[in-house]
Amino acid sequence: MVGYVGRFAPSPTGALHAGSLVAALGSWLDARAHGGRWLLRIEDLDTPRCVPGADQTILAQLAACGLLPDEAPQWQSQRTALYGRALESLVEAELAYPCGCSRSAIDTANAARGIRRPRNGERVYPGTCRSGLQGSGPSAWRLRTQDAPTLLRWQDRRLGTQSQDLHTQVGDFVLRRADGLFTYQLAVVVDDADQGISHVVRGEDLADNTARQRWLQDALGLPAPQYLHTPLVRGRNGEKLSKQNGAQAIDSSQPLAALNAAAAVLGLAEQGGSIADALAAWTAAWPWRGAT
Ligand code: GLU
Repeated sequence: MVGYVGRFAPSPTGALHAGSLVAALGSWLDARAHGGRWLLRIEDLDTPRCVPGADQTILAQLAACGLLPDEAPQWQSQRTALYGRALESLVEAELAYPCGCSRSAIDTANAARGIRRPRNGERVYPGTCRSGLQGSGPSAWRLRTQDAPTLLRWQDRRLGTQSQDLHTQVGDFVLRRADGLFTYQLAVVVDDADQGISHVVRGEDLADNTARQRWLQDALGLPAPQYLHTPLVRGRNGEKLSKQNGAQAIDSSQPLAALNAAAAVLGLAEQGGSIADALAAWTAAWPWRGAT
């Protein structure tokens, strides 16, 4: 497909595990099945969560699996000027505003309105600073969502029509934290547009960020990519596989075994032989070819 550009965008919080390899393989196969290009972006903005050296480990693991990018990888930490300019444009357009609310202030304001946050649930922002900054501490910057449609709809190539009510499920969300770090939501939207990403393929755990990202793309006047969210690998506790619930780094000395496990999650048949042959067979059998 002319103009197809895909990407894999790991956070270097640890080595690739069985779950993250599914997203990596899925995005690579989708790009190859559409005759497109595949880029790599290291999402290293949340510095307290980044593990030194994990970026190089991830690049080496991908290379061992034959998943090589078509351009030199990018690091988000080297692109902060872009995010700053995007935020400035939103502030100038009065679409973003400073917020001095602490987490506990948000919880208290929500509790006063009878809203209790579910465990691990979203801390919906009640809009306290929307009409003027409260408090004198360092401020975060939030994007206005009050003009978002009641149900923001978007299409997922695997999951079908998805929708989210940003007002009740998210609220005005943070673009830059009070500690100065730009957030994932802002950086991913700016980078996907800047790198010309036409197709986002990533794990299903990220699906519920998409409505926010669609809203932010509209606010910045950026095009929306197509989305495909891949199935998750579950850990021992039934939750998404992560380092916290025992995910092991994939074994780069057995790349075909790791790839076969990831391919099975994507509904693809086991392959023997060389890695190149396996990747070619899965590209030919890719179920989401043309579903764009
Ligand atoms: N950096 C994110 C993660 O590793 C993925 C972002 C994306 O694909 O949009 O979970």
